[in-house]
Amino acid sequence: KRTPLIAGNWKMNLDHLQAIAFVQKLAWSLEDAKHSFDDVEVAVFPPFTDLRSVQTLVAADKLGLAYGGQDISEYDSGAYTGEISGQFLAQLDTKFVIIGHSERRTLHGETDEVVAAKTKAAVKHGIVPIICVGETADDLEKHGQSAVPVAQLTAAIEGLKAGVDIVVAYEPVWAIGSGQAATPEQAETVGAALRAVLAEKLGADTAAATRILYGGSVKSGNIAGFMREPNVDGALVGGASLDVTEFAAIVRYQK
Ligand code: 13P
Repeated sequence: KRTPLIAGNWKMNLDHLQAIAFVQKLAWSLEDAKHSFDDVEVAVFPPFTDLRSVQTLVAADKLGLAYGGQDISEYDSGAYTGEISGQFLAQLDTKFVIIGHSERRTLHGETDEVVAAKTKAAVKHGIVPIICVGETADDLEKHGQSAVPVAQLTAAIEGLKAGVDIVVAYEPVWAIGSGQAATPEQAETVGAALRAVLAEKLGADTAAATRILYGGSVKSGNIAGFMREPNVDGALVGGASLDVTEFAAIVRYQK
């Protein structure tokens, strides 16, 4: 049985003071609603400069929510100006890290090889990688829906072993920030194709244990439809994760 995961990718929003206020409000809101983090796991992904503050708050108040980085270096240390090592993230009790988000792939030229190297770095440091895959509108027209995500995932998990703890996020590029989400059926079709890749490369048990998220214009009004699909185990939320009330409503999709 896979525990659903609702993840909020803040992208380049909310400074460390805003992060503290946000996480505190989110925690209060979920506590008021008697949210069980064992039933639905919740994670936020603030900018790097916020992580230490978020760690301090989560530890001090023993909050049930997790947090992660939005990227990781493929290297451990050295002359890599501007990069952040998995060692540093692990020291801040960072549970997850987003890898290969479409914005990193398109704006920062991250290739499948880089995504695979970063995935290995995360695993090495005991951080759960959330590997992002997804087709552009152009890919969709030329290759159909699953081909590009399947190829991206195949490349990203190259060299990983059965039993590895990873999360996959299917984020069609055309659905990100567009207000035009995929349909639950589309998310299910690609989710099933991605799980088949996991089964082939990592075995049936690992495939069955791995959470596959949908991302792209998720909001409180459409989350329940996605969560009904057998191969959608959660959501990676962008814009709607920046509003406490809206994000808490997404977390509480069953209510
Ligand atoms: P939106 O939810 O704003 O479409 O962003 C999705 C996303 O990119 C999450 O990583």
